[in-house]
Amino acid sequence: MTNLQGKTALITGSTSGIGLGIALTLAEAGANIVLNGFGDVDAALAAIEAAGARAVHHPADMRRPDEIEAMVALARERFGGVDILVNNAGIQHVAPIEAFPVDKWDDILAINLTSSFHTSRLVLPEMRARNWGRIVNIASVHGLVGSTGKAAYVAAKHGLVGLTKVTALETARTGVTCNAICPGFVLTPLVAQQIADIAARDGITTEAAQARLLSDKQPSGQFVTPKQLGNLVLMLCSPFGDEVRGAAWAADGGWTAQ
Ligand code: NAD
Repeated sequence: MTNLQGKTALITGSTSGIGLGIALTLAEAGANIVLNGFGDVDAALAAIEAAGARAVHHPADMRRPDEIEAMVALARERFGGVDILVNNAGIQHVAPIEAFPVDKWDDILAINLTSSFHTSRLVLPEMRARNWGRIVNIASVHGLVGSTGKAAYVAAKHGLVGLTKVTALETARTGVTCNAICPGFVLTPLVAQQIADIAARDGITTEAAQARLLSDKQPSGQFVTPKQLGNLVLMLCSPFGDEVRGAAWAADGGWTAQ
């Protein structure tokens, strides 16, 4: 198993869902954890500490560069810097382009894309100085293909895959790597809302709405799990990941193989 003792991981948007799953996996491997997000902070901190890791939470709003700077400064002050950066915070809104609320577009671009530029620019100097670092951008299948109603999300996630490639190229001759993971549907609060919307729209049960969501896109018919994604991040943090650079790794039950 990969040993991350002495390393520090900052995971944005890690009070629930995929971010919390990744934080738990990295905590179990021994990393110090910097949590971020607006969910149940006490429960998330307790879960990380139960895994035996040191943890701190910073409430930075990923739309605010000054707050992102304060979060990275806290990681430096508490643990001496960030070795592993997981850019995971994200939101969703579903509407056709002509009805897409402008403020939602701005928020999705800021949280799902621009915040990763800010965190990356802030941690790269210390990663270069140590000649080791891992940046993992949690993109989506929607960083690789489109779907109707998700203009802002698809644009942001395609942008994040592009940022991943440039970051990987600019660090290619160092011990710092940058990759994207592109999940299909994972059963988290972000997707629960879409399931509730389908159930209400089509007058069907939650279970039937889940099955409909998956059967439309995901050939396996199964949700991807936060634990599976946490273990992919762990692999990228291991020596096996040393020469994985600029990849957009699908974990999508076959969605993008179609
Ligand atoms: P989630 O809603 O469970 O978690 C999102 C996290 O981001 C929470 O901790 C939330 O508090 C935080 N957050 C939201 N707005 C924020 C802001 N302004 N500043 C800081 N934190 C903020 O969602 P999730 O499904 O776990 O999604 C995590 C990531 O995975 C997102 O980037 C999402 O696009 C991506 N993703 C999710 C799925 C899926 O099916 N759930 C699939 C592919 C990609």
